[in-house]
Amino acid sequence: MTAAVSVQNVHKVYNNLHVVNDLSLTIKPGESFGLLGPNGAGKSTTIRMLTTLSQPCEGHIVIAGYDVQRQATEVRRQIGVVLQQTSVDGDLSVWENLELHGRMHHIPNPQRQRRIAQWLEFVELSDRRDDKVKTLSGGMKRRLQIARALLHDPKILFLDEPTVGLDPQTRRRLWEIIRSLNQQGMTMLLTTHYMEEVEYLCDRIGILDRGQLIEVGTLQELRQRHGEGIVMKQQGDRWEYLFFPTLQDANAYLDNQPNKTGMMTRPSNLEDIFVELTGRNLD
Ligand code: ADP
Repeated sequence: MTAAVSVQNVHKVYNNLHVVNDLSLTIKPGESFGLLGPNGAGKSTTIRMLTTLSQPCEGHIVIAGYDVQRQATEVRRQIGVVLQQTSVDGDLSVWENLELHGRMHHIPNPQRQRRIAQWLEFVELSDRRDDKVKTLSGGMKRRLQIARALLHDPKILFLDEPTVGLDPQTRRRLWEIIRSLNQQGMTMLLTTHYMEEVEYLCDRIGILDRGQLIEVGTLQELRQRHGEGIVMKQQGDRWEYLFFPTLQDANAYLDNQPNKTGMMTRPSNLEDIFVELTGRNLD
């Protein structure tokens, strides 16, 4: 089976700064992959290269069987892209924005009208179809971006920090939309620095730090690799974390301590693993 996304030894250098450093990654059709990393890790740069907006300095990227450098037009037909900066036109109405995108992709009528109506319904914006986009909330604009990215029937959806800056309720609503698309068979790659986002949405997670992919696997695999149980020890004003294979092991360690003051156990999470690997927090 052709990989949905195949990245081999990709490098990107800006002003002598190695922003993406030897990135290799394969995503299967139908998979939901989350690229997790702190600000400046190289997530947006990676998405820009995968979506033909920027060229790698070295390495190969193949999307749905097409080379991003030699077959960029074909790649663009296969992908939907939702970037961080809202790229919808505020002075046009919701419907007009979609109409414009549909025409750019040469979707003929009446199919174009049908698809616009269908995706507006899906992202719950049908009742705002005639409103100017500048009157929409941040979450609505993001939903419009998703509808627009889906209009030309792409196979793979790329989402760069899709819920950044949105309130928790709006974020959850977007998660439902994104999850439902994946359940319908859409392959997706999303970047985020919210660990709950990848935990909720992604089959597999890649941790990106300083341009390097330092860990890849399912959440369960990562927890098994690093330890499923944690003992937290308060040391002055900071916490020290000890990993144990299971929560039971962590509890057994705590039970054996003569002085348990300032100590507690809990299951490990992605953020613990990230901090353990990089010595830094995600935010
Ligand atoms: P992330 O999306 O993980 O926050 P980015 O990919 O946006 O990270 O940025 C990674 C690094 O690359 C940062 O240090 C950023 O300043 C730098 N960078 C990104 N785009 C450019 C550019 N066009 N020119 C110069 N440096 C850039």
